[in-house]
Amino acid sequence: MPTPDPLCTPEQAQQLVLQEIPLLGVERVPLFEAMGRVLAEDIPARHDSPPHDNSAMDGYALRHADIAAAHAGHPAFLEIVEDIPAGYVPKKSVGPGQASRIMTGALVPDGADTVIRVEDTRAEGGKVAILDPDEAGVNIRRRGEDVQAGQVVVGAGTYCGPGELALLASLQRALVPVRRRPVLAILSTGDELVEIDEPLAPGKIVNSNTYGLAALALASGALPLMLPIARDEEAEIRRAVESALSADFILSSGGVSVGDYDYVKKVLGELGAQVKLWRVAMKPGKPLFFCTLQGKPYFGLPGNPVSSLVSFLQFVRPAIRKAAGHVPGEWFLPVVTARLEHSITNEDQRRQYARARLRLDQGQLLAAAPQGQDAHMLSSMLGANGLLLLAPGVRLEAGDEVQAQLFGEL
Ligand code: AMP
Ligand code: MG
Repeated sequence: MPTPDPLCTPEQAQQLVLQEIPLLGVERVPLFEAMGRVLAEDIPARHDSPPHDNSAMDGYALRHADIAAAHAGHPAFLEIVEDIPAGYVPKKSVGPGQASRIMTGALVPDGADTVIRVEDTRAEGGKVAILDPDEAGVNIRRRGEDVQAGQVVVGAGTYCGPGELALLASLQRALVPVRRRPVLAILSTGDELVEIDEPLAPGKIVNSNTYGLAALALASGALPLMLPIARDEEAEIRRAVESALSADFILSSGGVSVGDYDYVKKVLGELGAQVKLWRVAMKPGKPLFFCTLQGKPYFGLPGNPVSSLVSFLQFVRPAIRKAAGHVPGEWFLPVVTARLEHSITNEDQRRQYARARLRLDQGQLLAAAPQGQDAHMLSSMLGANGLLLLAPGVRLEAGDEVQAQLFGEL
């Protein structure tokens, strides 16, 4: 008997894949569309922020020297010379013995060096009594104390979340340069498949992979291009693969196993694909095929619905994130330690990725994996937000610690 090819470890397979993944180009998009994407250039501030000294409180702008000795039993009385709402330019400067009523965010008038909050004052006719001197300079937000003009506030490679968007908005960046999102062509193969809106004749099953994979593509930051089903027929698979070449990455599911009708690898070979990887020591997800086709990364994912989703998370998601400009620390799913809610065994000689629900209980992460973990059982994905990493042959008891990849919300 010939010895079987040694399988790649999942880590080796990830490295083989990532070596072939290019960094995509740059596009300028309206600020809001930068959400979840990676900034491609350093963004310097055009102006100081805050742009002017302004009040942090509703109160009175005044000269601290006038009130330094004041207290509740012996207030300092100042003449009110102006009312300054937010958004207006003060017309008067504040002289000795004077104060201007000022609102939060309004410009601090010339002459004033301190704002005393309204709670520490009492207005009496045209005068204000200051009951507490606080300290010189308080309650003024200084020009440029947040961001200074010319400073690189958000650097190339920054992930744009809500905070980054708000900051870029404050700096009037209406268009921002971000890395392109990879377009992912998704192709399902199989004579047994029908589309979701077609009748389910005997022997047929519904093409669910295209939807699961497209959803994962979106969640990972790619743009899915959902192609029609290709039959298990060489010419049809060839046409489908050629039509997918307009995308950045190509993903097919099914047809890469060792069955009689698994034509995908054969067709790719004929099209000149350079094979980089075939089969990985993991469960589910062993029959993974990866090649480059005319320079494009091509992922031949297993057909089994759960396998295709698990393989996507291990290999396609990191590739998307590399291409879209994320820093290497953000390519892979985060791994956490959780406590098992029940015992679990991996009887296989490959590492198992068991679908599980992770939840926080009084600050402690707990993990529970549903019973049916076979590669065709989509119900094992229901509510799943993690994959337990189970070493070959391991048995763990309830309460034991387990490592898990987190792919959803807790
Ligand atoms: P294959 O890798 O083509 O041998 O497929 C393995 C298993 O996955 C078979 O039971 C297929 O029916 C199933 N399968 C393949 N493609 C899909 C798909 N797009 N949606 C749902 N199940 C699929
Ligand atoms: Mg098939």
